[in-house]
Amino acid sequence: MITIQLNGAKKTLKGPLTLAGLLLELDVPKEKVVIEHNMEIIPKERLAQVRLKEADEVEIVHFVGGGAKSGGGALVIVESPAKCKTINKYLGDRYEVAASMGHVVDLPKSKMGIDLEHNFEPQYIVAKDRKKILAELKKKAKGKNEIYLACDPDREGEAISWHLKNQLGAGKKVARVVFNEITKEAVLEAFNHPSDIDMNLVGAQQARRVLDRIVGYSLSPLLWQKVGRGLSAGRVQSVALRLVVDQERKIRAFVPEEYWTIEAELKKQKGAPKPFIARLEKIDDKKIEMKDGQAASSAVENIKQLPFVVREVKKQKKRRNPYPPFTTSKLQQAAYNLLKFPASKTMRVAQTLYEGVEIGDEGSVGLITYMRTDSVRLSGVAIEETRGLILKKYGKSYLPEKPNVYKSRKDAQAAHEAIRPTSVFRHPKDIEQYLSPDQFKLYSIIWRQTVSSQMTPAIVAQDTADIAAGEYLFRASGSRLEFPGCLVVQGREEEQDNPLPNLEAGEMLTLLDLKHEQHFTKPSARFTDASLVKALEELGIGRPSTYAPTIQTLTERDYIRREGGSLVPTELGMLVTDLLVKHFSKILDFEFTARMEEQLDEVEEGRNEWVNVVREFYGVFSGQMELAKVQMQTVKKEAEPTDEICETCGKPMVIKWGRRGRFMSCSGWPECKNAKSIPTDAVCPQCGKGKLVARRARSGRGRPFYGCTKYPECTFIANRLPKAGEPAVDLKTLEEKDPEIYG
Ligand SMILES: [Zn+2]
Ligand SMILES: [Zn+2]
Repeated sequence: MITIQLNGAKKTLKGPLTLAGLLLELDVPKEKVVIEHNMEIIPKERLAQVRLKEADEVEIVHFVGGGAKSGGGALVIVESPAKCKTINKYLGDRYEVAASMGHVVDLPKSKMGIDLEHNFEPQYIVAKDRKKILAELKKKAKGKNEIYLACDPDREGEAISWHLKNQLGAGKKVARVVFNEITKEAVLEAFNHPSDIDMNLVGAQQARRVLDRIVGYSLSPLLWQKVGRGLSAGRVQSVALRLVVDQERKIRAFVPEEYWTIEAELKKQKGAPKPFIARLEKIDDKKIEMKDGQAASSAVENIKQLPFVVREVKKQKKRRNPYPPFTTSKLQQAAYNLLKFPASKTMRVAQTLYEGVEIGDEGSVGLITYMRTDSVRLSGVAIEETRGLILKKYGKSYLPEKPNVYKSRKDAQAAHEAIRPTSVFRHPKDIEQYLSPDQFKLYSIIWRQTVSSQMTPAIVAQDTADIAAGEYLFRASGSRLEFPGCLVVQGREEEQDNPLPNLEAGEMLTLLDLKHEQHFTKPSARFTDASLVKALEELGIGRPSTYAPTIQTLTERDYIRREGGSLVPTELGMLVTDLLVKHFSKILDFEFTARMEEQLDEVEEGRNEWVNVVREFYGVFSGQMELAKVQMQTVKKEAEPTDEICETCGKPMVIKWGRRGRFMSCSGWPECKNAKSIPTDAVCPQCGKGKLVARRARSGRGRPFYGCTKYPECTFIANRLPKAGEPAVDLKTLEEKDPEIYG
């Protein structure tokens, strides 16, 4: 049995089912609906291929019907069906709410679609899969006097609104309504104050779209020509990849150094208090540097003979101030660190909370504010409500005299807000039954962060004791939570509670144990979703809307892979980065990219024209592009020879680079199209003759798996390589029995 989210509500399925099967079961004709599966619109012809998995989200959008009576009414357009549903119930009969399913027009897929000679004019088209949606919207707009564009409150939402206005607005009153949360108050307030489309926001979106398009559609063909078919590069994406590659190089070049530590387990002489640990810090008042085991053991021999005397005790009280409420980047970091959610999953789940969840009799309710923001501001109403909750639930000592105010990044939009619950009175536990487990976990950390941000600081008593044994100085420290303050909601009180016994200067202590231990210095850690988002934000690369898609693109294109929680560049990622850094030094430069983001902000604020930003960038880019066409080495031609002979035509096989990294190709290409993966060193545990080789399902999607080079005689399949000395790996039956070798 699996449970999915169907139009925001839980639905249990008896057995495995495809989307097409689900429609049959629900008796919904597929001609009359659009299906969204985990935020992605699924074309009709693919419905039978998409298998539903546990916790999948499915939205079925009906085209026909709708609340409004014909004539004189108003059409309200939002991006998504879930949002459509939540808003629908706040507005009267006069309004019909429809979903645009994202952009109705966009740049063409088949060509760049930018007029480089004439002010970078974008050539927008209605894509094939958008035609039907647009036709339906046009039908609905017919006979209506007014159109309200209620897309999300950011550049993307503004641009979608602008395109909708151009497509549908002729002869009608068109207004933009902006709200930061989908609650009755916020929606009605927005409809009471409709505005015009903000062309500065549209300009900023258009500039980003055009810049990314120029870079993507110029660099990718260059890489095809020089390295291998199917490769791609992107403006922000390639710079983010460079961060990961640089870090990997540092890690690989790192030489670990040996060092030793000495720890004493001590106890007060009187009574039966808890023992505690003190660590050797100094010898003869000099910071210790113990590089080898011999020095450590001879020190231990000396110390054993010496009495331990408390020299000095320092008692301090420290305030642990609350953290600001979440921005997008901080939410992504916390969700990764606490819940192990990749950034893209955090955004997917947050979007469902923002767009609305069925809460019993209340119906569909937007549970959090808009999730793409770099503001830490809370609205006046939200602060009042949060302070009310703190007073009622936790008491006066947890409530600061005045509300806590946090500073946003300098360019953060004044009207935006942090990510917070639409009402803190909706405690996570109270609504748990209506949420999926992921929604519950994410909502809980948002709720806790918001409430704690308006609380008093925690107070921690911190004791440090310097303890002498002859010329050896040890240090012990402990802490005690005196007042939990903001930590009370985070459930992190215990972390602070590890007190030292009450020590006094001159006091003799009993030595229980003395340990010396070998260590090695460690390189800096690899990036995780959390630390990469943090680094991107600190460098000013990307914005709330781009962190998650950037990481996702890099993994999808096999430039980085996830290893445990870490992001590791692939060989392919390193090769492409090296080529780009060499020939596109500016475009791959962190500061240059940050400066571009600032210029987009200037466009948003009306201080710069989007065309100027694009023109300046293009001047730099096209110059490097012309040089690179000539100077970039052709990795393609430098195919490495191998001993293997092509079983199809008898010519030798060579190693080339492709979309999935290095692969073996027949040197007779293009006459002979034989291509295969490079086998690993692991011997097949089933036949003992073949080697294991990475393969991918025919669709090209999903994780790679391992098969035997003796296929089809040997049909061994495993989802990972056996570890050294491991007799057998867990076999996994794959749906596709006839996997195609990729290349
Ligand atoms: Zn061949
Ligand atoms: Zn085999």
